[in-house]
Amino acid sequence: MSPGPGSGGLVVCAPLRLEARAVRRGLRGRGEVRRSGYGPARAAAQADQLRNVPLRMMAVGGVGGGISAGLKLGDLVVGSQVSRLGSADSVSCPSAPLLAGELRRAGLRATVGKIVTVDHLFRSGQRERLVAQGAVAVDMESAPLLDGAAGRPAVVLRAISDTPGRPLLSPWAVPGGIAALRSLRLASPALARWADACAPRQVLLAGPRSFCAGVERAIEIVERVLDRHGPPVYVRKQIVHNKVVVTDLERRGAIFVDELDEVPDGAVVVFSAHGVSPEVRQNASARGLEAIDATCPLVAKVHAEARRFAAEGYEVALIGHAGHEEVEGTLGEAPQAMTLVETAADVARLRPKDPGRVAYLMQTTLSLEEAGSITDALLERFPAARGPGSDDICYATTNRQLAVRAIAAESDLVLVAGSANSSNSRRLVETAQRAGSPAYLIDGPEDIELGWLAGASVVGLTAGASAPPAVVGQIIDALSGLGPVEVSERVVTTESIRFGLPKELKQ
Ligand code: SF4
Repeated sequence: MSPGPGSGGLVVCAPLRLEARAVRRGLRGRGEVRRSGYGPARAAAQADQLRNVPLRMMAVGGVGGGISAGLKLGDLVVGSQVSRLGSADSVSCPSAPLLAGELRRAGLRATVGKIVTVDHLFRSGQRERLVAQGAVAVDMESAPLLDGAAGRPAVVLRAISDTPGRPLLSPWAVPGGIAALRSLRLASPALARWADACAPRQVLLAGPRSFCAGVERAIEIVERVLDRHGPPVYVRKQIVHNKVVVTDLERRGAIFVDELDEVPDGAVVVFSAHGVSPEVRQNASARGLEAIDATCPLVAKVHAEARRFAAEGYEVALIGHAGHEEVEGTLGEAPQAMTLVETAADVARLRPKDPGRVAYLMQTTLSLEEAGSITDALLERFPAARGPGSDDICYATTNRQLAVRAIAAESDLVLVAGSANSSNSRRLVETAQRAGSPAYLIDGPEDIELGWLAGASVVGLTAGASAPPAVVGQIIDALSGLGPVEVSERVVTTESIRFGLPKELKQ
């Protein structure tokens, strides 16, 4: 027999005996499984009882019908919205992306979407109408059952037992049911982890966070070029290193390519915020491409410094990370005079022709600590080395690192919104970790592992300079599905910098 909600406080309602058995086998005693009965009337009666049960969180687990294209037998649907057929009202389950991400990491196919509770076996013709309203699956109990949550954290998990191509009243009924029950059993341990993560918590926002002026400008450039020329617009490399931004621009007609030879003759091409070497500019010009430069002016400043030092006969150590597009672009300004330096050990290996004519520059998105220690090593070896006129590590990188450091000290966990190829976002993770907090890089709420949240009552939250502010809102929203969230902000400084657009787009 399953223990009651006292063990973690989770109650899972499973309508039918087979569904309850599948969930119970998966949960292995980490919560109470209630057989809530078939259909909306029994679900409503169960909800009446649940309102008086001292549960802390509730889940619905069962099979359901897939109605959106692409769902397969045995797929899992986690309800972000749950409504009754014909009702305009719906109940939100904000933590759905967290559970779906956990299921995917467990190797299961999971979709987040709207579930509609119907009161009769589904008829053809209704499906198209519901799909048009954004529904992905139907069931017969979830909406009334959720009334029993009475404001406590709740999720709905349905395993698909039939689809339009594999309907319930067909020979596919038995294999569909078997596939769904198997998925339900395999998914149930994630319900226990979801329950372990449920708690009231505080979210500490770092200020500043998210988009910098260079990223805003680069995105606006692509948007304006799309408006002016219409799709497709080619962009060499990711305009900024963020999956959400790139996917959004792709949807609007941008095509991201690695090299210019993928751009058709006569097309418009935008160079990314990270900058390009003179060779790339020359190739674009030789090809007759209309090139529009979204290089951040602060990256362009480093390029100008590289040219100036090289022209004055200096050998330039560029402190940065190998393979990063910004570093490749800067090195391309004076390849004969520049050497990449990634560590203090690299400094020891430098063999300049004239140790009295050494200069150094930096990638704009380095960690302050890392860059500081390499600069110290350089100045110790070459006391006369010349540095940039003003800091190469840009204001946005500096401010976001100082802000994340300020929240890390007070947080049980720090989440950094940003993509894995974003240098400045990765530096934020390292900065938080150095300040003593566990810290993780996530593209969005679905990347948050529920195990990170168990026991974390203060969650620090920031976003790299290339991560959209909306992602921060989505993360807070998802956390609010695990219990009440109190949001506060630590602002270390405010930013008002804006960069103008390239001249081609000003007219
Ligand atoms: S992080 Fe700094 S250098 Fe990079 S785009 Fe933003 S402002 Fe420019």
